[in-house]
Amino acid sequence: MTPPIDDIDGQVNYEGLKHCPRCAGELRSRTVRGHGRLACSACGYVFYLTPAPVTCVLVERDGAVLLVRRRYPPQAGKWCLPAGFIEQGESPEESAAREVKEETGLDVRITRYLGSWASDEDHRTPVASIAFEGEVVGGTLDPGDDADEAVFFGAGELPEEIAFSTHKDLIERSLRHPKRPKRKDSS
Ligand SMILES: [Zn+2]
Repeated sequence: MTPPIDDIDGQVNYEGLKHCPRCAGELRSRTVRGHGRLACSACGYVFYLTPAPVTCVLVERDGAVLLVRRRYPPQAGKWCLPAGFIEQGESPEESAAREVKEETGLDVRITRYLGSWASDEDHRTPVASIAFEGEVVGGTLDPGDDADEAVFFGAGELPEEIAFSTHKDLIERSLRHPKRPKRKDSS
């Protein structure tokens, strides 16, 4: 009998790996081209332990920043930027816009790359995080998917509990230096 999948939040990606996903042979630590890797002792398959790529999006409107409250671990109940893992076949920008849509109901246009970093703040896997700026172009604010709330917060209104130090930095920096409203250039 196949057991139910009941604890995806407790799952840690690279913990306790014993068998090759290709042939079920034994995985052993080996040196491959100068790096310590897990490799199959039977078929030679090399199991690369790579970070999972995630994106987050800073969406600012009228001097306020769009945050979502996390429905699931890690850090359930805390607030952060709309964010999520890149799916197979997606570009980082496509993934970023999709996550905003799923979690907040808003359509955004990705306008700028803000930065990237490595993080170990997700207990499930090391991540490589990519941040973008986005501009609302449609949709209606309506939380969904991994978010149970989606709210624009202005300076001085931020919730106490913000998940992920890097998100906190981006949010605070944005609120300290809000973008000026765009001027309609008539000339
Ligand atoms: Zn194998």
